[in-house]
Amino acid sequence: METTTVTPRNLLELRPWHFRPFRKAAVLGAGTMGAQIAAHLANAGVEVLLLDIAPKEGPKNAIVEQQFQKALKMKPDPFFDEAAKQRITLGNFDEHFDRVGEADWVIEAVVERLDIKRQVMARVEEAAREDAIISTNTSGLPIREIAEGRSEAFRRRFLGTHFFNPPRYLKLLELIPTADTDPEVLARVAWFGRFYLGKGIVVANDVPYFIGNRIGVYGMMRVIALFEQGRYTIEEIDALTGTLVGRPKSATFRTADVVGLDVMLDVARNLYEKATNDESREAFRPPKILETLVEKGALGQKTGAGFYKKEDGVIKSINPETGQYEPPRPLNLGDLDRIKSIPDLKERLRALFADEGRAGEFFRTTTLDLLAYAARRIPEITDNPANVDRAIRWGFGWELGPFEIWDALGFEQVVEGCRKLGYALPAWVEEMPKKGATSFYRQEDGRPQVYYPVEGRYVDDPIPADEIRLAVIKADPKRTLWQNAEAALLDLGDGVVLYEFRSKANALGQWVMEGLLEVLDRVESDPNIRGMVIGNEGRHFSVGANLGEAVMAVAQQEFKLLETFLEKFQEVMQRIRYATKPVVVAVHQRALGGGCEMVMACPNPVAAAESYLGLVELGVGLIPAGTGTTRLVVKAAEQAPHGHPSEILPWIQKYFETVAMAQVATSARQAQAMGFLPPHARIVMHEDRRLFVAKQEVLRLSEQGYQPPTKPTRVKVLGKPGYAALMVGVDQYRKGGFITEYDQYLASKLAYVMTGGNLTHPQEVSEDYLLALEREVFLHLLGQPKTQERIMHLLQTNKPLRN
Ligand code: NAD
Repeated sequence: METTTVTPRNLLELRPWHFRPFRKAAVLGAGTMGAQIAAHLANAGVEVLLLDIAPKEGPKNAIVEQQFQKALKMKPDPFFDEAAKQRITLGNFDEHFDRVGEADWVIEAVVERLDIKRQVMARVEEAAREDAIISTNTSGLPIREIAEGRSEAFRRRFLGTHFFNPPRYLKLLELIPTADTDPEVLARVAWFGRFYLGKGIVVANDVPYFIGNRIGVYGMMRVIALFEQGRYTIEEIDALTGTLVGRPKSATFRTADVVGLDVMLDVARNLYEKATNDESREAFRPPKILETLVEKGALGQKTGAGFYKKEDGVIKSINPETGQYEPPRPLNLGDLDRIKSIPDLKERLRALFADEGRAGEFFRTTTLDLLAYAARRIPEITDNPANVDRAIRWGFGWELGPFEIWDALGFEQVVEGCRKLGYALPAWVEEMPKKGATSFYRQEDGRPQVYYPVEGRYVDDPIPADEIRLAVIKADPKRTLWQNAEAALLDLGDGVVLYEFRSKANALGQWVMEGLLEVLDRVESDPNIRGMVIGNEGRHFSVGANLGEAVMAVAQQEFKLLETFLEKFQEVMQRIRYATKPVVVAVHQRALGGGCEMVMACPNPVAAAESYLGLVELGVGLIPAGTGTTRLVVKAAEQAPHGHPSEILPWIQKYFETVAMAQVATSARQAQAMGFLPPHARIVMHEDRRLFVAKQEVLRLSEQGYQPPTKPTRVKVLGKPGYAALMVGVDQYRKGGFITEYDQYLASKLAYVMTGGNLTHPQEVSEDYLLALEREVFLHLLGQPKTQERIMHLLQTNKPLRN
């Protein structure tokens, strides 16, 4: 049998069975981070003991309970579902510290004070099991100092685990081993963090603020300093530092307002104090404007004012000279729309870099500054430039990290630009061309590599074996087996193919659906194909049917065409469900309307834990008619052990409400509870692994001898009595003024389909009968002016209309 030794470079290459997962954890400190880390561990199925200090007086659990209550109300929700909440037990340091001994992993997340953290660690050493792993979630304290005074055995299983806030949603998890940390311990946490918690793992050196915050906060402080010079307005800077350059919409100042200016100020002050050896330390001297705003109590979103403030319906921004909030002035950035319209990010960056106006000047000043700073931090913060890029992408939501931006702009161009603007570059960058290296990344015989400055050469930087990247497959033209205007069939190897949507927002338009029929024929008839994955790497799995196409057909009174399209839509979904070979949908992020129906059609779906499924058709004046309504009716009937109407009604009621209110699941777990995913759906915590897992699922199913589900011919529906029961609630909502008259009408149409149409009493019908009802109601609704208004409004404004 093969044995594997752990080294820092093969951390993520070890196979899942190498490690024991943590089943019980203790989280110490139930503040912003502690409570949310506990929540996410519970999301991963871990039983968590969450402890905080006992107050001087009153019930000893008062603090922890109050903190936990806060977490329960947080938006976005730290919890996947109700069950996760139940996995957390609350306690206090006075009465329950000995229970730390039950944990496999002890995470400390108490206040950022070295003395307190050390005291806590001394107690942990006493209480923890000998094989428990212990970590600290400090942002800025030296990890090794927190472990000072502890035994060698303790220090071997101790490390820093720096989660980003909010820990459920931000992908980055920095791991900071000390010189004493056992590599096996580091590897076990890395593996658990990635596999169970879904995090992107970056190993950082034990230096102030590690990698992400050191680079990210530098960039932010330098931009704020530039703002203080008065050459650019807040609105201009946010226009130049947001989606235009592949960063979050909230750009610089809105991000600061969301994070909290007090938090920003604190981090800057700490960095200034701690990064004493940093030649650019002055960058962290807190900008005056930040201090002034914090002194005034303008802390950002939480106080209603920060860099921005909404007054009289206008979003104003602070003028550092007058200290007043002023309405936005028109941007003076030249023809930004031209650059904005360039679809490819790297090209957009090059266009900005070359821009001769104020936009280009800003971009060059701030970007080159940041790239040079990032280069100067190597090897201090990490010896691998890819770690910097990953930390910035995963911790700050940028599409490209500094060295990737550098490669996109051109190695020489950046070096030249830095010289011109006086940004110092480290010797290793200057030496790269002498070694024939003029990029940080390259492909060598199809292997991705990254330049390692300390070694002065390129080193393999492999994609983990349990991830599939479509770009790699597409790089080989032979692996694109088929394509049309909106979709493609790719060869994943081992007899598995993947159907990829390429339409705008992955909408399910005519080409996507017709293509699916074509490839399903091929998959089922080709003896060399074992099965198919349906998945993509878009931001979202799919926004649903292409409403634009539907509206156009309505405008041209092409109802026959619509009917044919709808029939075909249903046919595709049925083909997916009853295909004779495994078809596995791999869903991630949003899957709405038709997208959700496609997932529901699949008998063995794979879902990223962060999947947001919903049948939202009522929002646009329609009902789910791509088999989604039928599927829920069948499911309700199946869940009644004796098929008695009184057993079916509660399920129908629940599904009816879900669809009538266009509810969207906030996690894959919740989607299971709502009926959009089956209980046996494979839920993948690490989103980047979903296509790999889906492929494995196809292989597993085909290897076992695949049998598709059988088509139900006798589905018990409730008829008129069920309809009346469903409408009681709807009528009350209407009377209470919670829904419009048209909402009520739509709900009645949904209830009609869900109870089997015009049947005087409960009886059995076929699946095809229900599908015909879906079509009848859908086409009827599409002809209604109010539905058409809803669709047009959504298409034009991207917002729902309640008419
Ligand atoms: P917080 O202030 O929200 O929570 C700290 C918790 O520690 C509180 O529940 C408090 O009751 C408890 N505490 C106070 N005194 C204590 C003592 N003497 N002994 C034990 N517990 C005590 O802080 P937070 O934001 O959750 O930060 C916790 C840790 O995580 C800090 O080290 C911080 O640097 C780090 N961190 C914070 C963030 C962030 O964005 N907030 C991100 C990454 C890391």
